Amino acid sequence: MIRLRRAPNLLIAQHWINLLEQARIPCELHNRYMQGAMGDIPVDQCGPEVWLEHAADLPAATGIIDGEASLAGSSPVRWRCGSCREWLEPQFTTCWNCGSSFSDFQR
Ligand SMILES: [Zn+2]
Repeated sequence: MIRLRRAPNLLIAQHWINLLEQARIPCELHNRYMQGAMGDIPVDQCGPEVWLEHAADLPAATGIIDGEASLAGSSPVRWRCGSCREWLEPQFTTCWNCGSSFSDFQR
């Protein structure tokens, strides 16, 4: 067994487990009952942890989770161009119609 990563909360840990299981990577959730013990224990000493059965799965598992994290960090919904009012899908960062950048409208 090898520890993949500590999750910020049980919900995310369970989500990662689901993703890994979908990818058929054997994994386990550890420390799931530590949440209630938080307080005197430093935060980095507790919290749910995702462990992999095989160390060889580590790169693939990291890629799956990091890919998920970057998806969560970007806009999950369609956005509207501030210049030409065109609706754009979330995977586009610039307007295909007029070339305006998504970040130009986030200020
Ligand atoms: Zn536009």
